[in-house]
Amino acid sequence: MQKPCSNGHPFEKTSDCPTCPTCERTRMARSAIPKIGAPATRALENAGVHRLDELADWSERDLLALHGMGPRAVGILREHLAVLGLSFRS
Ligand SMILES: [Zn+2]
Repeated sequence: MQKPCSNGHPFEKTSDCPTCPTCERTRMARSAIPKIGAPATRALENAGVHRLDELADWSERDLLALHGMGPRAVGILREHLAVLGLSFRS
């Protein structure tokens, strides 16, 4: 049985989990870490950050303290967070 999700995507509901695959893909794409360079990406991975939205728990100062993270990378992350309607912890 096809049921549209709340955003109108038709999808086959095969379980009790209401996640629409189209919405899920969009959500995953938007919360992916943007291209900030290998050292900064590694710094995030080492800190256990794998999704952009997890950075809402971080302050810029804490991020900059990570080895490999620089102001340019933090600036890019800030812009991408803003797209999600999020920001760094102040
Ligand atoms: Zn959907």
